[in-house]
Amino acid sequence: MTRFTPDLLAADHAGLTAIRRDIHRHPETAFEEQRTSQIVADKLQSWGIEIHRGLAKTGIVGTLKGNRPGQKTIGLRADMDALHLQEKNEFEYASVNANKMHACGHDGHTTMLLGAAKHLAASPDFAGTVHFIFQPAEEGLGGARVMIEEGLFDQFNCDAVYGMHNMPGIPTGRFAIRSGAMLASSDSWQVTFKGTGGHGAMPDRGTDPTYVAAQFIVAMQGIIGRNVAPSQAAVLSVGHIAGGNAGSTNVIPSEVLVSGTARSFSPAVRALLERRLAELAAGIAQAGGCAAESKYFRRYPALINAVEQTSLAVEAAALTVGRENVEPNTPPISGAEDFAFMLEKKPGAYIMIGNGGTEEGGCHNVHSPLYDFNDEILTTGAAYWVNLVQLELGDSA
Ligand SMILES: [Zn+2]
Ligand SMILES: [Zn+2]
Repeated sequence: MTRFTPDLLAADHAGLTAIRRDIHRHPETAFEEQRTSQIVADKLQSWGIEIHRGLAKTGIVGTLKGNRPGQKTIGLRADMDALHLQEKNEFEYASVNANKMHACGHDGHTTMLLGAAKHLAASPDFAGTVHFIFQPAEEGLGGARVMIEEGLFDQFNCDAVYGMHNMPGIPTGRFAIRSGAMLASSDSWQVTFKGTGGHGAMPDRGTDPTYVAAQFIVAMQGIIGRNVAPSQAAVLSVGHIAGGNAGSTNVIPSEVLVSGTARSFSPAVRALLERRLAELAAGIAQAGGCAAESKYFRRYPALINAVEQTSLAVEAAALTVGRENVEPNTPPISGAEDFAFMLEKKPGAYIMIGNGGTEEGGCHNVHSPLYDFNDEILTTGAAYWVNLVQLELGDSA
């Protein structure tokens, strides 16, 4: 098989850069990616790829059959949405939409997958079917989950699914991945402690939910230290505390709300965090003569790469940039990603592509108002997708 290095796609680099910068200039947030989605639809159709629109509002699936017979189908996924953030970059393609910005590089992800689609449509030398999945709303609202709920995999069967994200801090021309849990589940939780409150000078005449909440916040870290197995990792952080009135510092409030985030790398630890937060809140509240009302909101599951597809992804990356530039056992990251919903349904693998170092003058981190996707890697990412399709569907007649 041909090894697709980024050089082989060099002729497409200028065209892909133009698409990427156009999308960057016109960022759209969750489920409103109308313009972006139209660009994707127009490009796919212009290359003769059949498209389906409307899953999760702006989602698009492009379907390309190889010119050799084969039953196997794979899904390649890119996200299209931007963030609610005011861009601080001053280059000519900076966002023209106030408080919206492609600060996570999804403009680049969409473009890299388009680059691969163009190439594969021109040379469909494979056996089977590729579904190019362009999803909305990765940032927080779970566009992947909505596409699945609306029938993504019923309408477009995929034997395996693959995703990719750029990563500042990893030099360009490199990839990193691991099999098993690579990204964390991301949930939020909320506990309301209820007591009687009363006069700040006479705490003995009532019950004090601030005292209870303070103990809960300290004791909560014991869930990580005493309940989660030492070989496992998890995070609990408080993000918000509310109670009382700033103008009445001599009043003990009757309610205190504590809320935060919970991260873990397995369904079992996730369930443990959910259960122990509620148990601990109830127990501490009871000891303080108060009541606790706990809520736990499951948002994104842990992203778990399948063993077989991870080795294929490593091979595809090695074909693209050389084996020495692929880290096959990168440490897990406590961030989250909604591609995890797709990996709950289908085996697959999610890989990180280097966006450049973060040294001074280098690449800013994702979600920074100074971040930018690195156009240098557009053909690297596109070449990875092409190599992956060849590995998955090249010989399976
Ligand atoms: Zn992001
Ligand atoms: Zn992202």
